Amino acid sequence: MPIKPKVAFYWCASCGGCEEAIVDLAEDILAVVEAVEIVFWPCAMDFKRADLEAIPDGGITVTFLNGAIRSTEQEEMARLLRRKSQYLIAYGSCAHLGGIPSLANQFSREQMFKFYFEEGPTTVNDKKVRPQLQTHINGHDLHLPELWNVVRALDQVVDVDYYIPGCPPTPKLTKNAVAAVLEGRLPPKGTVLAPDTALCDECLRKGSRPTDVSFTEFKRPHQVLIDPEKCMLAQGVVCMGPATRAGCEALCVNGNMPCTGCLGPTSRVRDQGAKILSSLCSNIAPKEEAGIDLVLAGIPDPVGTFYRYGLAKSLLRRKTNLPLEDKTP
Ligand code: SF4
Ligand code: SF4
Repeated sequence: MPIKPKVAFYWCASCGGCEEAIVDLAEDILAVVEAVEIVFWPCAMDFKRADLEAIPDGGITVTFLNGAIRSTEQEEMARLLRRKSQYLIAYGSCAHLGGIPSLANQFSREQMFKFYFEEGPTTVNDKKVRPQLQTHINGHDLHLPELWNVVRALDQVVDVDYYIPGCPPTPKLTKNAVAAVLEGRLPPKGTVLAPDTALCDECLRKGSRPTDVSFTEFKRPHQVLIDPEKCMLAQGVVCMGPATRAGCEALCVNGNMPCTGCLGPTSRVRDQGAKILSSLCSNIAPKEEAGIDLVLAGIPDPVGTFYRYGLAKSLLRRKTNLPLEDKTP
């Protein structure tokens, strides 16, 4: 019987959506399961860390790791999986670019702990109890991983071979990547396994995308009845399509919602948020400060709008003017 490629799946700072995306392969997952040997997938099966440690270094053909890295345990697991794997693939926006978890880079760990365990509107915690790294209870020592001050993308911690973008990646992108691994036709190391063109190129509305637009206001999707035939930007709705990699077949735009940028930038764009910002802001109609401010008021959360999936890998990376005591890893 031919030896099957050994495959692992793992999650770090993740919502679980990327694990769902594997299951979303539907009946195709049976072909994958038939073609490979799954040697580690603790989210779906009863695997323990010891099972992974028992695998020889390089013994896993390919690991798909989703989620960002923000704790000591996640760093340890990323390093262990790197050592055990011939190919390590950053799967989904969080592993690829830091994803939604890296929006936390606008705050320090202390600010987050204070909000969630003391000041949050639904928090009841009179004694201000916080998670402890070590707790002694009933004669046992319990340990928790330490949360980092900075959320990182996978390649900011370990060497990564390939990236599958998306929040989560579509079944088609996942299937193509698995097929490329199985058939041994992988592109050069470091490639993002999706088309290297902008989303507008595959958007059905591209014919109505304005070449010469002048924004007098920006509207959020819930504030306007969006015309399903017309380019979002032509309707004053912020769409990340021009600065975002294609490959999702414009699923959100086809659902009448603007693209929020989850596939990240193409290889020609260094900073996705800066790219769309410079394009939108240079086309604001008013030229005096008060008028510009009025138009920009339509984008109340610029970081969440332009860096929703990629703050960790952006030129900004994180907020730096933190109190001294917060300048931990
Ligand atoms: S990329 Fe999206 S779906 Fe995947 S873990 Fe991150 S937030 Fe969830
Ligand atoms: S800006 Fe958005 S809606 Fe317009 S063509 Fe590009 S992806 Fe489509």
